This record gives sequence, structure tokens and C-alpha cells, in this order.
Amino acid sequence: MPGMKLPIVAEIAKNTYAINEFGMSAMYLLIGTKRALLIDTGTGAADLKKLVEEMTDLPCDVALTHSHLDHIGGAMYFPRVYLSKADQTFLWSSLDEELSELPDVPRELSPQEREKAGLKCLQASCRQYAEYLGRCGSYDVFDYCPENIPLFEHFPEFLDLEEGMAFDLGDRLVRVIATPGHTPGGRSFIDEQSRILFSGDACNPNLLLMFGCTVEETLESLRHLQKFSSEFDRNFTGHIGYAGRNVLCSVPDRVLPDAIEVCRQVTEQVAQIKTEENSLSGETVKTAVYGTVKISF
Ligand SMILES: [Zn+2]
Repeated sequence: MPGMKLPIVAEIAKNTYAINEFGMSAMYLLIGTKRALLIDTGTGAADLKKLVEEMTDLPCDVALTHSHLDHIGGAMYFPRVYLSKADQTFLWSSLDEELSELPDVPRELSPQEREKAGLKCLQASCRQYAEYLGRCGSYDVFDYCPENIPLFEHFPEFLDLEEGMAFDLGDRLVRVIATPGHTPGGRSFIDEQSRILFSGDACNPNLLLMFGCTVEETLESLRHLQKFSSEFDRNFTGHIGYAGRNVLCSVPDRVLPDAIEVCRQVTEQVAQIKTEENSLSGETVKTAVYGTVKISF
């Protein structure tokens, strides 16, 4: 059955677009009067630079919620990209670990060789992920090929992305909030104009906390995010329309308070919270559920 060959683009508020990359990742393009902002870049399976250029003539900043492959894979289409310092470090420690496990990679690499080998690893992981998500349901809806994910020559220049910063797009300001938990340097964005929170993988119903932060640290981070809750009405995450599902909307309001509550109960070892052991991508993780949110840690 032939599927859709291009990412789905949907206007979720005035001059605010969700881009669904073949059921894998969600990116967001916010267009102001002077500049545009692209939040996240997917796996690279979609030529995002071309897509953005078709959508706006304005200069476009690119910022990443975090450094996981399904958010950073397309960053190489752009010359410079904002990413928190902590996740720049996290990215390289993850890639170095992968490289150290490969038998054919020499132990001593020049910076250029390390960059090239790191990009090759990233491309392989992106292709694997694209294939996996395809089999989970994306192939039923989309007609894409993991082999089309390009092997890039260079990483973009990374610019630091820290809380307190804001992107001034002309008539709209987009604030950066530190939301570590899913990764050590996770960042979320609050758009003043649309009153939308763009939270990447930091605040969703299936919260994965096995990438360098404790449940306690995540609890602190989510409580910090909650302090800004009067500034947003909707929360768009990094994976709307996951695996070909027909969903293109905000997660429910309950997700943030439920995420805080499940983290609190696990941290304080509240008697009624049940944790289970499960297998996730070959790793054993603990899970706990409260209301709308499951955490894996
Ligand atoms: Zn992630």
C-alpha cells in the first residue's frame, strides 16, 4: 500500500507548525515577523532544510530539546544549532561509548576522525530507529526509506542553549526552560504568542528516565517547569503521531501533575506506588505508573 512520501505539516496555532517526520519525531516551526525558530530536527529522514525554506523566507534559528538521535539527526542540514552544554557533553559521551565498542575503530582518533566516525555511528542508529519505527506502524502510513538518511560530513556548530535565553522572532518571544530528566541537558520552550509549551521528551505520558538523570532530579525539574504553568495552555511533545498514529495534538493537562506525582511517590517510596521490572530495548528497567503517566528508570 503506497503511503505518504512527505512529512505531515499541520498548523497548530497562528504561524506555528507541527512537522511529523514519518511517525518518528515531531518538529515545530514558529514563524515571527523577523525570524523563525525550528525546534528539533528529527532523524534526518526528511530534508528539513528544504521543507523550512519552502515554509518561510525569514532567517531561521534551529534549537534542539535534547541530543537523542531522533531529535538531532537532521541538525546536520544546518550550519549552526542551539543545544545545551550538558547535552553537547552527553552526545559526545554516548558517541564515544559506541565508538569504543566497535572493533574496527582505532583507539586514538584525531578530532576530524572522531567527528566522521561519530557521524557514521549516528547515521547507523538513525537508520535502525527509522526501520524499527517503520515496523511499529509508520510503514503502514508513510512511504519512507531508512536508507535515505544521509551520511553527513560535519556536525553543525553547536551554540549553547541555557535557561534565561529567549528567541526574539519579531512579534513573539520564545523562552528557554531547563528541563533535565530525560537527558541531563533537556530544554523546553514556551512561546508567548501561542501559549504552547514545546517539551521534547521531558514531559509526556511515557517518560523515559534512563539516560543520566535520577527520578529525584526529574522531580525537581518537573516542579521547576510547573512554576511556568500559567504561561502555557498546551504541551506539544517530541513524538506526536508516533508510529503512524493519527494524533496531532497536545498531551492532556494532567500529564505534568501526574508526572510530578509519580516521580514524588517513587522518590519518597510511598507505599502504594508499585514498581515493576520490564525490558526496554534489551535493558532491564523499573517502571511506575500514576494517572496518565508511566515512568521508566
Ligand atoms: Zn529522547
